[in-house]
Amino acid sequence: MSNPSLLILPGDGIGPEVMAEVSKVIQWLGDKRGMKFDVSEDLVGGCAYDKHGVPLHDDTMAKAQEVDAVLLGAVGGPKYDNLDFSVKPERGLLRLRKEMDLFANLRPAQCFDALADFSSLKKDVVAGLDIMIVRELTSGVYFGEPRGIFEEGNERVGINTQRYTESEIDRVARSAFELAMKRNRKLCSMEKANVMESGILWREVVTEVGKDYPDVELSHMYADAGAMQLTRWPKQFDVIVTDNLFGDLLSDLAAMLTGSLGMLPSASLGSPMENGRPKALYEPVHGSAPDIAGQGKANPIACILSFAMALRYSFDAGNEAERLEQAVNAVLADGLRTADLLGEEGVQPVSTSEMGDAIVAKLEASL
Ligand code: NAD
Repeated sequence: MSNPSLLILPGDGIGPEVMAEVSKVIQWLGDKRGMKFDVSEDLVGGCAYDKHGVPLHDDTMAKAQEVDAVLLGAVGGPKYDNLDFSVKPERGLLRLRKEMDLFANLRPAQCFDALADFSSLKKDVVAGLDIMIVRELTSGVYFGEPRGIFEEGNERVGINTQRYTESEIDRVARSAFELAMKRNRKLCSMEKANVMESGILWREVVTEVGKDYPDVELSHMYADAGAMQLTRWPKQFDVIVTDNLFGDLLSDLAAMLTGSLGMLPSASLGSPMENGRPKALYEPVHGSAPDIAGQGKANPIACILSFAMALRYSFDAGNEAERLEQAVNAVLADGLRTADLLGEEGVQPVSTSEMGDAIVAKLEASL
């Protein structure tokens, strides 16, 4: 059997710096766990524009469609701010998401014990938190027609349309149930079926899909109540599935329960390919951080945890994903901090590569 394939797109700014630390983890998995990947690397964003005049070359797009997973660093930077909209670095990322039809956006909120003090909530509310929000990403009110600002009588009216087809709800619900099966078999669906017809349909379809997953405990909650419950006692949830708009808000809220931008991974999944794996793009939530690029200050953990998600959700290696997350937990417990995580007095920050090396050392110690 051939090795699983991985396309690495480091991108711009701190992207290549944090990706270099992921490469150390990939190397370690190959050397010490016999888990080899066919890795190829390519350009996306500003660096692709510099070389090809476009933020994503057609050949790179074709490669992304073929591999088992894509891992992206970050794109963008001040150098590209004045480019025409059509070739801005972010367009490369948007093209990947669109052409791979990545309709399920996974945003975990995971609180490492050593960072529980970073949260704006009380420590016992967030310590040990590990939940996953699945946001529908390609439909809903951000895309529905009609939309626009129109003249109506002697004033203007702004219109957006919340629109979901049954198949759009069905496929994102299935992604969420599949995830729930790989986690704690608990799924909460959030909408506003009390005031929105699209919410009524959402609830009906999710309930119907649930019949195919009898082992998953399904519950429903109005999204506003969900926001309250997420801040009151987030540990009551495991996987949450919701639409594009509510997911936008709820995933940001949940992510920030746990602290720094430098810690937040994400995944975007599409339909299963012939080999059964979903099309997948894994990336940290943060951007290219031009203010610290090239200084060895970036926190590589968000990118490393994005790779842990790839291990779990694309490569059926949940045990190695857990080992990697435990390694991150262990370095944080030892007190290692990149500059973005400094809070305690007298702690000297470690560099990007020192953090990566320390995580690999913990992996090694886990054997
Ligand atoms: P940003 O996420 O790059 O940075 C925001 C702040 O967080 C900065 O102070 C930065 O230093 C810090 N930060 C971010 N990631 C960090 C890390 N891993 N370690 C330590 N500190 C970190 O957002 P921004 O400043 O609004 O945008 C900068 C550029 O990135 C822009 O060109 C923007 O368009 C682009 N961007 C790209 C993506 C992406 O590639 N997915 C996402 C957001 C922004």
